[in-house]
Order: sequence, then structure tokens, then C-alpha cells
Amino acid sequence: MVDKEQILQWLQAFTTEIEKNKEYLTELDAVIGDADHGINMDRGFKKAIAQLPNVTEQDIGNILKTVSMTLISSIGGASGPLYGTFFLRASTVVAGKSELTAQDLLEMLQAGLDGVLQRGKAQLGDKTMVDVLSPAVVAFGQAVGTNKVILPAMQQAIAAAQEGLQNTIPMLAKKGRASYLGERSMGHQDPGATSSYLMLKSLLETLEN
Ligand code: ADP
Ligand code: MG
Ligand code: MG
Repeated sequence: MVDKEQILQWLQAFTTEIEKNKEYLTELDAVIGDADHGINMDRGFKKAIAQLPNVTEQDIGNILKTVSMTLISSIGGASGPLYGTFFLRASTVVAGKSELTAQDLLEMLQAGLDGVLQRGKAQLGDKTMVDVLSPAVVAFGQAVGTNKVILPAMQQAIAAAQEGLQNTIPMLAKKGRASYLGERSMGHQDPGATSSYLMLKSLLETLEN
């Protein structure tokens, strides 16, 4: 089980991870975008977690929904609506719950990914955050289907996410600003895929503690 306290810790841990990697994410975005991904994410998640003390008594669905609303309204650029949609869709699946089974967590991550896919219309291989989220959710689903144990399943998901992240390097960007560069987008790691990897890694680290 993953309880509400762990979800709150995850959101805090991810925000700290973003802060630590703010310059790195912005540098990645400077190469194939407009040099603001770290800044956008840092601003948005700091604002989002500042709302959490008001909702600690509420269920996990409401906590994630609160995060999503702040992200949608305060991160500029592509990543705000996309991360906002991820958390909004994730929130609806876990509405009313104060702890999650492996299956709940799978459905939550799957719903978040589906939201990103619908909103951004990127496919696997387009060099976006989808290239990390999608293989991670598939790996998590397979592992949960086999043994229903969250921690090893999340370790499998992170391995897949890491591979997905590396795979964005040679890709030709087909969505977002990087796509304007055409072939010059090749050979560089995608910033949004990198922040999505950090999001999942923060979740694993929270569950390990
Ligand atoms: P902007 O490009 O508007 O400045 P950010 O720099 O914050 O926004 O975010 C860029 C990241 O957003 C990209 O690296 C990519 O991973 C992700 N992204 C952009 N467009 C899409 C899309 N249509 N679907 C999924 N992810 C996308
Ligand atoms: Mg940018
Ligand atoms: Mg921008």
C-alpha cells in the first residue's frame, strides 16, 4: 500500500529534485528549446506544494487535483498543461482514497499518461515526456500483473524510464519546440522526458524510505 503521507512526501521530494536539477533541465532545454524548462517546473511545483498544507486532511484524489490546478494555472509553456493534465487525470482515478494498492497506483499512472497523450497528441518516439512515462507505465503494469508488489514493480518501472530517457537522445523531435529544429534536435536528451524521469525516481525513492 501507498498511503497519503507517502504521496505528500513524493510531491515534496519531486519538487526538491526539480530544484536541484533546475539548471540542468534549463540547459537541456537551451539546446533544443527555449531554455526555460527548469524554471517552469521549479516555479510551478513550488507553487503547487505551497498549497498542500491546506489539503493534508483530504484524500489523495483531492491532493493531486490541487497540484494539477496550480500547475495548469502557473507553469507557462507546454509542460504546465501537460503535467497539470497528468495530475488531474491521475487524481480522478484515486478520488476518495487515502491509500493505494499496486493496482490503484498502476491505474493512477496509466490515467496520467493517457491524459498527456490526449492533450499533447505525442506518440512514442516523438522525443517527449511520453518516451519516459509510457515505457515506465508498461513495465510497472507487467510487474504488478506478475507479483502485485509495489516496490520491485516500481524498480522495474524506473529501469524502463531510464532506458526511455536515454532513447530520447537520438530521436528526431516531432512535438513541441524541439520539433522546429528538425534533424538538429537529434543527439540531445529531451528536457521534459528528463523531468518525468525525475518524477518517477522521486516516487521510487519515497517508497524505498
Ligand atoms: P516550452 O517548450 O513551451 O518552453 P517546457 O520547456 O517547459 O515548455 O517543456 C518542454 C517539454 O515539454 C519538452 O521537452 C517535451 O518533453 C514536452 N512536450 C512538448 N510538447 C509536448 C507534447 N505535445 N506532448 C508531450 N510532451 C510535450
Ligand atoms: Mg521550454
Ligand atoms: Mg517556454
